[in-house]
This record gives sequence, structure tokens and C-alpha cells, in this order.
Amino acid sequence: METTCPRCKQTINSQAVTCPFCRTQLKAYGHPGIPLHQAAGRDEYLCDTCTYHADDTCNYPQRPYAKECILYQNLEERNLDLLSQNQKPRVNVSINNWIKRNQSLLLIISLFLICFLLVLSRS
Ligand code: SF4
Ligand SMILES: [Zn+2]
Repeated sequence: METTCPRCKQTINSQAVTCPFCRTQLKAYGHPGIPLHQAAGRDEYLCDTCTYHADDTCNYPQRPYAKECILYQNLEERNLDLLSQNQKPRVNVSINNWIKRNQSLLLIISLFLICFLLVLSRS
């Protein structure tokens, strides 16, 4: 039997545990290790805080009233992840900026080191 991936909408085997195209986890029951997310309260729905509801890429039939869902991804956690990913390159950028600003200083230091090594090798 075939079905479509709720995330990337490719045609996939309905028995697939993960989508072979986008690696989305598809099955929870009977597959230990795959978390089944559950809404915290009676009047709460997972979709309200789900990334895939926010970006409108989910086509699960239970949306927007999912009480439990394996695909659920918390919007705030995702944003935090993205934030921390964005912060890493910034460190590199600031190092690069520092190097650019202090190029002449670095040049002098490296010249000094070369001289020092030359003197050492002659003695
Ligand atoms: S919680 Fe599940 S059903 Fe609801 S939007 Fe997210 S992925 Fe879709
Ligand atoms: Zn997919």
C-alpha cells in the first residue's frame, strides 16, 4: 500500500517508519524510540504550537485538532534551535572581522616571528 508523506508529500510505502525523502518519522505505535507527542490539557491541541501548523506544511487529517501526533515539532523549541544555529557563525564572523581590523598587527607579529626564527637558526 502507498501513502503520501505528511511533510514532503512524496508517495511512500505506508509501512515506512521514516520518509525516505525527508527523513520524517511516520510511525509511533509498535516502534519503540519514536516519541508520540500528546497535548498537555483537555482543551489544548498540539497543532496550536506546532511548527508544521504555523508554516502550513502539515496535511495530517487530525490537524488542527491533534491531541497526539508523532510529527509534532514545538514551534518555540524550533525557533530556539534556529537561533543557536544562527549564533555559531556569528562567532566566526567576529573573528574574521577582528583579523581584518588587525591585519597590520598580525603582519608585524609574523615578521617578528620570522626574524626570530632566522636568528635562532644562525646561532
Ligand atoms: S501537531 Fe501533528 S497534526 Fe498538528 S500540525 Fe503538527 S504535525 Fe500536523
Ligand atoms: Zn517526506
